[in-house]
Amino acid sequence: RPRVLSGIQPTADSFHFGNYLGAVRQWVALQDDHEAFYCVVDLHAITVEYEPKALRERTRRSVAQLLAAGIDPERSTLFVQSHVPEHAQLGWVLGCITGFGEASRMTQFKDKSAKGGADRATVGLFTYPILQAADILIYQADRVPVGEDQRQHLELTRDLAGRFNHRFGKTFRLPEPYIVKETAKIADLQDPTAKMSKSSSSPAGIIDLLDDPKVSAKKIRSAVTDSGRDVIFDPENKAGVANLLTIYSALTGKKISELEDEYAGRGYGDFKKDLAEVVVEFVTPFREKTLAYLDDKAQLDAILAAGAERARAVTERTLTRVYDRLGFVPGA
Ligand code: ATP
Ligand code: MG
Repeated sequence: RPRVLSGIQPTADSFHFGNYLGAVRQWVALQDDHEAFYCVVDLHAITVEYEPKALRERTRRSVAQLLAAGIDPERSTLFVQSHVPEHAQLGWVLGCITGFGEASRMTQFKDKSAKGGADRATVGLFTYPILQAADILIYQADRVPVGEDQRQHLELTRDLAGRFNHRFGKTFRLPEPYIVKETAKIADLQDPTAKMSKSSSSPAGIIDLLDDPKVSAKKIRSAVTDSGRDVIFDPENKAGVANLLTIYSALTGKKISELEDEYAGRGYGDFKKDLAEVVVEFVTPFREKTLAYLDDKAQLDAILAAGAERARAVTERTLTRVYDRLGFVPGA
């Protein structure tokens, strides 16, 4: 079976609809016919300012949300990145074959560092795509389900794998991004030209899976649209409406063209009201399930311990090969 690997950062109290529709939903689907490795990437979360207490809580909340979304810890290896030290070890090695200019071209670093000002950006934030490459390559993953914003990092990952193989002999499999076009970039509700983001969206721009459903409904009803009244899918000129149609279609399975017909001549009000209901129906049980998983920390931690052990069986093997290829003297 082909291998799949993906990760999510514990940088907020809740995942949002972009995370779910762009990535996590695919994680759940892929576990049926893939050997799956899914992780909460806490090492990445410390590249920006954070509170240690919040990080610990958010890491467990992330795991609980993945379970609530349908990740099955028996079939998929579910773990926390810092429990598997080989990620960071391979990250160092890959950093030594990455060009400084190459790393400087990563647009996500430019975006994220621009926001906090140059002094607040850390070297960790700068090198994070290299650690991400290690996360993927250490598992010899074939596919990586992610949103559109990760495409450039996947390209870097493939470049580094190819470079290592060329210089030291075939070691890494080249992974393919797995990006579902329709939902690859869910937009911010208040600024539909920007992606919905845990760290940079305003509260009104983001629909969190764990928000009070009433709050989510209100956010949908007050999402930015435009001065027209036709519910049509036109991402260029009507980005706000197109985004809402995308979310509606993804949650109900109805085609966008069907939705356009259904709301022809009815205006935005009806459309948003119905979508708000669709969202409430989705988040209500999701939230209950997540809170139930969170209630039993011992069970969560046991799942993570088992996941880390399974992950390490793979990562130790890869790292041993890598160290050998590099010319390191074998250790004890
Ligand atoms: P941060 O702002 O802290 O980077 P994030 O919202 O971008 O948080 P990540 O944990 O970085 O979330 O990403 C987890 C997964 O969700 C990735 O695969 C990413 O591509 C995907 N993703 C994030 N935002 C969106 C979005 N708006 N639309 C589609 N996919 C998204
Ligand atoms: Mg992100």
